[in-house]
Amino acid sequence: RKTCLVAMSSERHSGSLSMLFFPFMGQGHILPTLDMAKLFAVRGVKATILTTPANAPLVQPFIARANGSGYPMISLRLIPFPSGTGLPEGCENVSSIPSLDLFFKFFDVVPRLREQFDWVLRELLPDCVVTDAFFPWTYDAAAELGIPRLVFHGTSFFSLCLNDSVLRYRPLESLPADAEALVIPGLPHRIEMLRSQLPGVELEEFFAQFRVSDSKSYGVVVNSFYELEPDYARHYREVVGRRAWHIGPVALCNSDTNADESARGYEDAVGRDDCLKWLDSKSAGSVLYVCFGSVSDFTAAQLREMALGLEASSHPFVWVVRSDRWVPEGGFEERVRGRGLIIRGWAPQMLILNHASVRGFMTHCGWNSILEAVSAGLPLVTWPLFAEQFYNERLVVDVLGIGVSVGMKEYTAYPEERGLVEAETIKNAAEEVMGSGEEAQERRRRARELGETARRAVGKGGSSYKDMSNLIEELMEKKSAVQAQTPPTI
Ligand code: UDP
Repeated sequence: RKTCLVAMSSERHSGSLSMLFFPFMGQGHILPTLDMAKLFAVRGVKATILTTPANAPLVQPFIARANGSGYPMISLRLIPFPSGTGLPEGCENVSSIPSLDLFFKFFDVVPRLREQFDWVLRELLPDCVVTDAFFPWTYDAAAELGIPRLVFHGTSFFSLCLNDSVLRYRPLESLPADAEALVIPGLPHRIEMLRSQLPGVELEEFFAQFRVSDSKSYGVVVNSFYELEPDYARHYREVVGRRAWHIGPVALCNSDTNADESARGYEDAVGRDDCLKWLDSKSAGSVLYVCFGSVSDFTAAQLREMALGLEASSHPFVWVVRSDRWVPEGGFEERVRGRGLIIRGWAPQMLILNHASVRGFMTHCGWNSILEAVSAGLPLVTWPLFAEQFYNERLVVDVLGIGVSVGMKEYTAYPEERGLVEAETIKNAAEEVMGSGEEAQERRRRARELGETARRAVGKGGSSYKDMSNLIEELMEKKSAVQAQTPPTI
């Protein structure tokens, strides 16, 4: 107990700021949190990442590289994942859930991490915690110790605002039974969506529970940059009423190290050198990159249409197929040999997006993927499936004007519940984004411009750089005030 108190006291009384980062166990949450921790560490913050043992192999290489490159400030803390949960042994990440039916079980189990979290918190007594929006209970644990909690949602201001409007005004409840489309009320732009593209009342309730602690928390850190969505950065602060700091695109912190750009968590299913060699062999601005993130799945029929659509389009492509449902038929691989690189498993996405041969990205509209594409200055073919992806699609297509939709209508994580997107539609959307017509060029010009703005935003003096400085300064002031009130324990 005494050792513990001394440790507590020394953390609180040390000169530098200490922050504990606790991401939800999914690639789309862990990867940006690691980047975020690195960005804070570069600014002199002592950062600790908290996760569970099965996620350690994803986190350790990143920390080793970051620390090796001169920021020896990031450390890792592991807490055991609850046992006897009904989840398969070692299933501690949403990307390794074997069936979608276990998805909600995963969410049920996660709050059981609270006791372990409390222990770590009492031992480290950091100056601040940055915890995932899916861990609302971390607010209570931190509040008991007087530690400010920052929430990380891992998505855009835009989707946070749309989500707020949907929960605030409940537009589905007053929508006439025969109406298919609706305008999301109370937003800076007219955003129209199909009823079927919204999560529905039941799922809304499920997600709403995670937001209860948002307004009590110290604030929200957002992986975005002001110039990308200024109306929504303001709306979120002024209308939704959250204190927020925009500090992204955080993935740009890796542009100094090629290794980080390549390896983002899992071991890549294709050798980095082989991938580079293949991309180098293609002309500048000719390749379509196709990837749907870390958790999405498709039916065999849909994968077949995708294969046919990509074959029918005139462009070289890199296609990341996570699903083992896909069995290439009728000599497909032979026919596209040399023109199509098929990656079965995890791809070095950052490396691919930033290669000069890549001209466009077909994406499921996960926020990290969108931001990574925006940072690389690329236009998008949008193919949302669930989560906040349909909201992000509207930002990309309607507000930013850098995307073409394949026209997905059904919000669902279950592949069998979706309508089939035919090869012809896939080919047409790809051609539209990759083409040389006036609209395609204009789209590309806008995307390139956003890419340049993104880089400026995280550079010294840029909007995200400054907002991160503001946050660090504020937390330092808070720390000094706490130190003045609590003399060190001997
Ligand atoms: N990613 C990757 N290789 C892959 C698939 C995904 O490196 O084969 C990375 C991608 O760069 C992004 C993250 O995993 O940083 C996926 O996050 P996103 O929000 O796009 O989608 P999610 O997986 O959460 O649906």
